[in-house]
Formats: sequence, structure tokens, C-alpha cells
Amino acid sequence: MDFVRRLLETIIFGGILILLGLATVFLAYSHIIDWNQATSMLWVETVVGIIIYLYHLLWRDKEAEKFAETYAIKKQQLELRATKCKELENRLKKHYENDLLPIIREWLKPAFLATRMKNHTMDYSLLSGCIYYYPQNKSVVSQISEPMHFPKNTVEEVVKHLTEGYPEYWKKWCTLKDNANNHLNRIVKVWEEIEDRVKVKAKELGLAEWDGKKPNPTSNYYHADILVGIIWSDPEHYQIQKKHLWDEYDIHSDEKGGFEFGGTWAHSQKREILEKLKQYLTNESDRISGAQKNLGEHKSKLEKEGTNLGNFLKEIEDDLMRRYIRIRSFCPTCKGWLDELTELGA
Ligand SMILES: [Zn+2]
Repeated sequence: MDFVRRLLETIIFGGILILLGLATVFLAYSHIIDWNQATSMLWVETVVGIIIYLYHLLWRDKEAEKFAETYAIKKQQLELRATKCKELENRLKKHYENDLLPIIREWLKPAFLATRMKNHTMDYSLLSGCIYYYPQNKSVVSQISEPMHFPKNTVEEVVKHLTEGYPEYWKKWCTLKDNANNHLNRIVKVWEEIEDRVKVKAKELGLAEWDGKKPNPTSNYYHADILVGIIWSDPEHYQIQKKHLWDEYDIHSDEKGGFEFGGTWAHSQKREILEKLKQYLTNESDRISGAQKNLGEHKSKLEKEGTNLGNFLKEIEDDLMRRYIRIRSFCPTCKGWLDELTELGA
């Protein structure tokens, strides 16, 4: 293209010179000027033409050189910018994938029961929280909270992203966490109440408490842990089976010279004591069934809210891993990178 342009320029320039020459010759022929003057003019025109043409060529070259230089600088700047952006994006991606996502994935992970704690008599789980119940009202409540088994400052980074980037969901999480922890505390209270009441009743019936471990008393005892457990489990069983957990167990005499109920559940010298205990179990099951039903419905509601929140957290993960949409907002780790990216216009 450059060659064609230069050729055209030369033809036009040369054409003008030839026209000027022809005009000079015409003037000489017409005797307006004489031939000596015409020859001098032709020389002057030729020399001036050559000088102007050479200057033009030189100027054009310098211009082109300058343009090439500017272009190279611009290209280098663009390449540097692209490299910098890529590097920052990579750092961000690593921050999201290595620091934030593992915590987000664990956020509402259900609690694993019975693997961490042993020898408890009852357990109950809700979302990431659980309760392990031990006799004598010694319960261990593992509360629902932000994941704990990660470095504290990394969890705080996730919290900063979530609170500022998704305030409406953060509010939902806080409400759910409070309500779910209250729910777990209510369950503990129900269990404690069952235990306290069984103890009072057993004392009234003259039965001693047996924990199932110490040597088995020969008469007038009840296995406290089992009775508390079966009272709590009975309403749900009754609703499905239409009979109580203890309906299949007859009170009968044994080799110790007394009567037994449910194998090792209770033992007494008098049959009517055990009959009263059996009736008490039925009364207790009836007493707690309404509250237990309400607690069951409340649990389902909280679990549903947990599923919705879980879906929202899954969406963040999908945005990041599949659509590569950044997690909203920033934390101390990624703020500088995001600022630099904004400055670079990325
Ligand atoms: Zn961050």
C-alpha cells in the first residue's frame, strides 16, 4: 500500500512539473518570454521540484517512524495491562476457590451424629447443630454457627463478603441461626423435663434409679436412661404404629422373686407398681405428643429455610465456578486487587 501511495504521489508531482515545463515552453513559443529565460525557468522548476519531492519523502519517512514508535508503545502498554489484569484475576480466583469456597460449602453442612460423641443416651440434629444428651441433665449442645474448623480470619473474610455483598441473605442466616439454636435449647428443656418428671414419679413409686452400668439392684429399680428415651421416642412411634413402644411388654414375674417390665426397664416386688409405671409412660407420651408435634413442624420449617439458604450459597459457587461471576463485595485480602482492576478498567 505504501508503495502504491508513493507511486501515485510521484506521478502527480511529476505531472505538475511537466505541466509547469510545458507552460514555460508555451510562453517561450508565444514570445512572451525568450528561450534563455525559458531554459533558466525550466532549470529552476526542476531543481525546486526535486528539492520539494526529496523533502516530502524525508518528512513522510519521519512521520511513519514516529507513528510506528507510538504504535509500539501503545501495543506494549496494552500487553502489560492484559498481563496485569490476568495476574490479578488469577489471584482473585485462587482467593475465591481456596479461601472462601471451602467455608461456603461447609456453611450448612448437616451435623454428623454419634461419630464425635459417645455414650450419650439421645441425640438430635438440626442443620449444622446437634445435641447429645447424657443422663442427669448433662446435655452437650453443638450450636449452629458459622463454620468453626477454619482459620478465624478466613471465616471473617467470608462473613465480610456475605454481610456487605448479600445483606438480605445474611439477615436471613442470622435469624435462622437464632431460631434454630432456640429450637435446640427447647428440645433440651423437653428432655430435661421428661427426666425430672420420671425421677419424681419413680421416687413416688419407691423405685431406685439404675444407670444400666452399676451392679443391677435386685429389686425395686428402674433404668432411668431407657425410660427417658422411650418416652421421647414414643409419640412418633405411636402416630405411625398406633401402639406404644411398651405395649408389647407384659409385666411378669421373674426368678428374682418379683416382677419385671421390659426386660431391664424396671423391676419391683409389686406388680401394681409396674402397672402404674406403665400407665405413667402412656400419660407422659400423651402429654408431650402435642409439643413434640409442634417442635417437629418447627424443625421442618427451619430445615426448609436452611435448604433455601443452601441453594443461595450453591448459586454463589455456581456463579464462581461455572459462570465466573465474582463473589460480591470485598474483604481485606481482595480489596487491593479489585481496586487495581477497576483502575485498569477491567
Ligand atoms: Zn475477599
